[in-house]
Amino acid sequence: MSNSDNKPLLVDIPKSFYSDETNAPFAKCLNCGRDLQEGQTQYIIEKAIKRYKDYSSTDTIFEYAICMDCHQKFMSVYSQESLANIQTYFLENARFDHKRHHLIEKLQDGVFEVDEWLSHCIIKGTPVSEMTEYQIGAQCVGDKMAALQMPFLIGNEALDEIMQLLSNKTIDGMNGFIDEFFGLPPDLKKLLKDTGVFVL
Ligand SMILES: [Zn+2]
Repeated sequence: MSNSDNKPLLVDIPKSFYSDETNAPFAKCLNCGRDLQEGQTQYIIEKAIKRYKDYSSTDTIFEYAICMDCHQKFMSVYSQESLANIQTYFLENARFDHKRHHLIEKLQDGVFEVDEWLSHCIIKGTPVSEMTEYQIGAQCVGDKMAALQMPFLIGNEALDEIMQLLSNKTIDGMNGFIDEFFGLPPDLKKLLKDTGVFVL
């Protein structure tokens, strides 16, 4: 039963996409401060996670939620060339494969297992148990998560490759935007610049 419209299904936001800071769903857009839980506001959540192999525990390095309006403003700093490069990279490398389709079918039957969706790098296929740093991303609408292409996990190996696809002009623009708009402490700004912002 393939979902011919490819419409995302709305599910409750799982705890792995709660803010670590508040232990609750993200309340506000990082950039404009808009209330994210009310109504039909669309937004993206990104969390960068460090995993300690020996202790099998994790730390969230940074996390944020940003509304689609602000995300679009942010995307406008990307050059056409960089955008095209990233799009091609995802088309050629993202593993929207049999396993993924199986998860979507389960979702259509009312079973959403977020850990399965985040069990390996969407690009490289590396299991999360073999990674020390990765990012997870999700798309949400108000107090629900929209599941289809997202949520997913990207390991740092693939993130490094994506950063290589960006032109210097795009990197300058991205850094300028982070400086100007993201109300983050300097060390987090640096981390965000080093790893990039999800571009989907
Ligand atoms: Zn916003």
